[in-house]
Amino acid sequence: MEVIHLSVECFPIAKVGGLADVVGALPKYQRVLGIDAKVVIPWFDRPFVKEHEFEIVATGSFFQGSEELQYEIHKEKNDILGFPLFLIKIPGKLDREEVYCYPDEAEQWIAFQHAFLHWIQNNGIHPSVIHCHDHHVGLIPFLLQYGAVFRDLADIKTVFTVHNGQYQGWMSWSKGILLPPFDTWKWGLLDWDGLINPLATAIKCSDIYTTVSEGYLNELFIEANGLQGLFNTESAKGYGIVNGIDTAYWNPQLDTLIEKKYNKITVLKGKEENKRILCEKYNLSSNLPLLSFIGRFAKEKGADLLAEIFIKLFSVRDNICVFILGSGDREIQDELTDLALKFEGKLSLFFGYDEELAHQVYAASDMLLMPSRVEPCGLNQLYALKYGTIPIVRAIGGLRDTVIDIENEGYGFVFEKLNTDDAVKAIERSLDIYFDVKTWKGIRRKAMQLDFSWDRSAQKYVELYNQLLK
Ligand code: ADP
Repeated sequence: MEVIHLSVECFPIAKVGGLADVVGALPKYQRVLGIDAKVVIPWFDRPFVKEHEFEIVATGSFFQGSEELQYEIHKEKNDILGFPLFLIKIPGKLDREEVYCYPDEAEQWIAFQHAFLHWIQNNGIHPSVIHCHDHHVGLIPFLLQYGAVFRDLADIKTVFTVHNGQYQGWMSWSKGILLPPFDTWKWGLLDWDGLINPLATAIKCSDIYTTVSEGYLNELFIEANGLQGLFNTESAKGYGIVNGIDTAYWNPQLDTLIEKKYNKITVLKGKEENKRILCEKYNLSSNLPLLSFIGRFAKEKGADLLAEIFIKLFSVRDNICVFILGSGDREIQDELTDLALKFEGKLSLFFGYDEELAHQVYAASDMLLMPSRVEPCGLNQLYALKYGTIPIVRAIGGLRDTVIDIENEGYGFVFEKLNTDDAVKAIERSLDIYFDVKTWKGIRRKAMQLDFSWDRSAQKYVELYNQLLK
């Protein structure tokens, strides 16, 4: 069975968040299960692309409105990621350094989707399933069915995975003329509240939609940035499948990005050494427990609450250090900068995106804080567990599904309500146990023994594909 994953992120080529980790790992695990899984993403002006060998396997052109766009399909020659990888290059549209935040995003993603369909249609490529990830490729299920020039592809099944329902790809109807020709009387499938809404279109038109955890699926039925009614209407074809982690890459025993490798037997010494090095570099005391935050400075992640949480925490406890790795909202960044000055030696920061540092932080920390408002799955807590770093999380979406509180014989600290007092209480609870060395050791061992690898979830997707093809 041939399955093409279509996305605008894929680790290690282009990563902004968890979407990239999933698209860079899931196909590899599906291939082990006998699925001919491939990945197609836009071409990026990035190190991976320059450092690896690519060949152009197809070219073509099409009109986007009145503009003729030329595309090239670049295939990575050696399947170095464990699956065939194709990049679509369109000069002026899909040849950039960053993944997001260009003013012509709508034009970029329409061009990506059109080029993909044009390429497969004209080169006899006919996968059994196209697996689309997030709104950037949300128009594919519609275009397969109602695109006037893609009739040959109409029998291809589609699975659409919602990694984040907050972002929907809204565009005004003035962009409609940029789409490939389609059955215009079907325009209602593109529309939501007077805008073209690719996420809504995908939920309406895909054969199956999935979310990256069961808990998140249930939350989307209640609140989905305006689409909750739609998620409910289409619920018969909705499934929640929790993400896995790529244990070949996220594994303290094999990790070449951390200072000292360790496993569940050598964790004490290994963590100590990683912590010493990180703390020395960032002017923190390595004799104290280290609590970290890694993530986008966005409201979704509760990053706007961090400053208040740490002010309250340091007012009641002085036996803890904090490290924050992230980037995003300028105001949050400024607030945290002020705080780091005030709590010098207790709180340190690194602003920016740094994959290597993220690995070091997971390895060096004792606890990881995730005070999220919305968390479709969350990968950080899964990486943390693998590295023996105990998650302190708000009970939401995938966090609720994957972290069990120690009071329920689990391996983490969970707080229900999104407020800074409850977050601080959860951190205090973790500190009380941290200093009970034997108990902490037991929790850490339990955490490191958990299996959140892709094996199980990859199989679940395969079952869905089979269900569609029956
Ligand atoms: P998101 O909503 O951002 O996709 P996830 O928890 O699904 O959240 O995935 C986040 C991924 O991004 C993880 O691999 C995490 O380690 C990584 N990450 C987030 N912020 C940074 C950063 N500033 N530097 C390095 N890695 C980061």
